Amino acid sequence: MATTQTLPQVDQSHKTVLEPIATPSRLLFGPGPSNADPKVLQALARSPIGHLDPLYLELMGEVQELLRYTWQTDNRFTLPMSGTGSAAMEATLANTVEPGDTVLVAVNGYFGNRLADMAARYRANVQLIEKPWGEAFSLAELEAALSEHRPAILALVHAETSTGVCQPMDGVGDLCHKHDCLLLLDTVTSLGAVPVFLDQWKVDLSYSCSQKGLSCPPGLGPFTMGPRAEEKLVARSSKVPNWYLDVSLLNQYWGSDRVYHHTAPVNMNFGMREALRLLADEGLENAWDRHRCNAEVLWAGLESLGLELHVPEALRLPTLTTVCIPNGVDGNAFRLHLLNEHGIEIGGGLGSLAGKIWRIGLMGYNSTPKNVELLLNLFESELPRFRENVAVAA
Ligand SMILES: *Cc1c(COP(=O)(O)O)cnc(C)c1O
Repeated sequence: MATTQTLPQVDQSHKTVLEPIATPSRLLFGPGPSNADPKVLQALARSPIGHLDPLYLELMGEVQELLRYTWQTDNRFTLPMSGTGSAAMEATLANTVEPGDTVLVAVNGYFGNRLADMAARYRANVQLIEKPWGEAFSLAELEAALSEHRPAILALVHAETSTGVCQPMDGVGDLCHKHDCLLLLDTVTSLGAVPVFLDQWKVDLSYSCSQKGLSCPPGLGPFTMGPRAEEKLVARSSKVPNWYLDVSLLNQYWGSDRVYHHTAPVNMNFGMREALRLLADEGLENAWDRHRCNAEVLWAGLESLGLELHVPEALRLPTLTTVCIPNGVDGNAFRLHLLNEHGIEIGGGLGSLAGKIWRIGLMGYNSTPKNVELLLNLFESELPRFRENVAVAA
């Protein structure tokens, strides 16, 4: 054809000849992603349908209703954000923070700092209460900080994936009502795996992700907003300063109007529907019990191997166990050995815990007695070689 002759020559320098993708089979016992349920992977592989197809619109309603069940909330603004957990995290702040609002962030790990960073980008007056990584906040500490700072929002991390601490929630919601502030709770590593009673706890804003307790690959960030947070959104004097995450726009698609906002990642939502369907089929209480029972066997087994756990039992997260790396052991070398020789991923430490702990995740589909046994057997047989600092043949 005549036109092709007028095109410049195609630059071939970045063209790479590849084989079709082949991924190794790994067991993901790190801080996430965890392995997806094979049934979820089948759902993801279905042919996409239109994001305004009546069948898809019905599926959206099913996902929303199952998210409400999973969070134990009646919030009408409950939907999966397109993006990972951090997108939903950012949405909670983007929709409610107005410049100058005081946001009090309780920081006892990596994700508290991320919340503080995000809130500051929406021009909040960010105040922090801090605790060492591995501890939780008491009601008295939260109350003192609420009295001192009089925030519009208190942000807390329920399940700190960087430390393995589960923040006790009894009484926190009442404190926030008493001090007339919204309660924002990160439930990324608890949703579907650790008891969460969003409405009973009087939580106004929460978010999670698809790839930890929900047995789905990364890609969606469940988001929910209660009536008090909705009021703050409606009363804004300026537009939500983030178009993509603006819940008032998103609700025109997820609510009854069904107006196009952005093309929904339909296959991710197929996967989410299947993941939530499987969870409801098991029953939330049973899933919580399963995570707790398997974690308790893991804890006892690690301790019987002489390993020390970083968090006292009363505060331990069933989904993520932090293990102190014994003196003289190269934690990174052990982790790489498990990955390269056994196809098993565990996590290292973040921030102030880097080089000091391993992080073992047993989340969603991966929380099984068989996986606990596998992990304990590996720690028993492989760790001694690292304790003695013997070089491991590759
Ligand atoms: C993983 C995680 C996030 C961030 O989620 P992404 O899916 O990585 O964006 C936020 N908070 C906590 C507690 C997490 O564990």
